[in-house]
Amino acid sequence: MSDLILFWHRRDLRISDNTGLAAARKQTAKVVGVFCLDPGILERDDIAPARISYMISCLQSLQQRYIQAGSQLLILHDKPVTAIPALAEALNAKAVFWNWDVEPYAQIRDNDVISVLQENGIQTLNQNWDQLLHTPDEIFSGSKAPYTVYTPFWKNWISKPKLNPVATLENCENLTNEEQEIAKKIGTIKLPSAKDLGFIWDGELIIEPGEAAAQARLETFINSAINEYQEQRNFPAVDGTSQLSAALKFGVIGVRKIWKATTELLANSNCEEVTSSITTWQQELAWREFYQHAIYHFPELTKGAYRDSFKSFPWRNNEAHFQAWCEGKTGYPIVDAAMRQLNEIGWMHNRCRMIVASFLTKDLIINPQWGEKYFMQKLIDGDLSANNGGWQWSASSGMDPKPLRIFNPASQAQKFDADAEYIRQWVPELKSVDTEYLISGNITPLERRAVGYPAPIVDHKKQQALFKQMYQQQKALTPDP
Ligand SMILES: Cc1cc2nc3c(=O)[nH]c(=O)nc-3n(C[C@H](O)[C@H](O)[C@H](O)COP(=O)(O)OP(=O)(O)OC[C@H]3O[C@@H](n4cnc5c(N)ncnc54)[C@H](O)[C@@H]3O)c2cc1C
Repeated sequence: MSDLILFWHRRDLRISDNTGLAAARKQTAKVVGVFCLDPGILERDDIAPARISYMISCLQSLQQRYIQAGSQLLILHDKPVTAIPALAEALNAKAVFWNWDVEPYAQIRDNDVISVLQENGIQTLNQNWDQLLHTPDEIFSGSKAPYTVYTPFWKNWISKPKLNPVATLENCENLTNEEQEIAKKIGTIKLPSAKDLGFIWDGELIIEPGEAAAQARLETFINSAINEYQEQRNFPAVDGTSQLSAALKFGVIGVRKIWKATTELLANSNCEEVTSSITTWQQELAWREFYQHAIYHFPELTKGAYRDSFKSFPWRNNEAHFQAWCEGKTGYPIVDAAMRQLNEIGWMHNRCRMIVASFLTKDLIINPQWGEKYFMQKLIDGDLSANNGGWQWSASSGMDPKPLRIFNPASQAQKFDADAEYIRQWVPELKSVDTEYLISGNITPLERRAVGYPAPIVDHKKQQALFKQMYQQQKALTPDP
């Protein structure tokens, strides 16, 4: 058996602050990376071209990083359960390392790979947790149960010491020429483009791919916008959030590195507002972990509602309404602006994600799973746990203790897009309409016709009343415990 350790990258597309990769490098200089283009994921019907485009570009950049470290990143395009053990065996690798994941699909896949590797006598190290500051087995309530409510989770989570970033991969030994030939024979390929894989994304990527770009984005955010995050994060026309979600989803930046940056800032802050802004941003990172822990402990969340009262909710599921929502043609300017932002750039501001999710579930009375899937088909940062958590929260079907939360599109626009800047940016046919009408939604039928903008597809007040009535009936039939 050689000294070689294969490191299997999945949602950790970087060589710095990568726990599993650093553990591999500690054991040997001969660490070679591998990424497997998994048909089990690529052939699903909820994959966004923008996300694949971003991922492929991040892999390109990861290949360069490996070369700088003296090694290389191999690419496979097959089922991991066959491809990973075959590569390990052909190269006579002594071990395959990777970082563990919370998603149900990943866990089944990984256990299958472990079984085959073990049958072949190849060591595995796969229990490194890289994508989280605290593993799902670290944060439990007093009764040793996983948390189902965020606030007590946060209090426990923030009280625990956090790890520092780990060493960057360097000074590696590469495969010999002979080993390279073997790798090619058993199926390593040149990195294909997203287009080669059937994903066409013609737009520019809103988020620059690669480790260096993610690091630069963190620095820009930490040096400025984070100080006013609490104040600015709710205004979709303002560039007030980090836009690190895609990098976090694919692990293009290490979460320990991000955390360290926030604690250093906190240590140097002597302004109450700044301290509070930094803490608010840390709380968002904790929401991300809360939802990942939730998926890990309650994988049934991926199948539908958490609350009993929503498990058989009689959603109206009007296809034409759904289509209008997807296309940003509901006649509600703030909803349409948000959906068009999603369709055009593959990203949507958090405030607007909440507005459109509430509109789909509470105004159109459509099953949140339809919206959840549509988001996954479009979002550059589409992530099972965060997306599921966001949809369950908005639909009131999840763990959130507040039972009925209904957003009024007009009051949301009045509060968070008071100058209608965001609406005008994404619904250009409304550019000339007075701000007052844009944010209240009270655009006259005549004016709507004149600019080619649709009439509202439903009446918010009526739908709100209807939803509340349906909810009360459903609750009486199936009370939540
Ligand atoms: C219906 C709905 C669907 C969503 N789908 C996704 C998704 O698929 N992928 C995704 O990453 N986020 C999702 N979110 C959460 C949130 O909208 C995005 O993380 C955020 O808008 C990304 O922008 P940012 O990086 O500038 O965030 P920032 O405000 O800078 O926050 C920093 C980081 O914290 C995490 N974060 C922030 N808010 C949340 C949250 N509410 N839940 C979980 N993590 C959070 C993200 O990783 C984010 O990058 C969803 C929210 C809703 C309401």
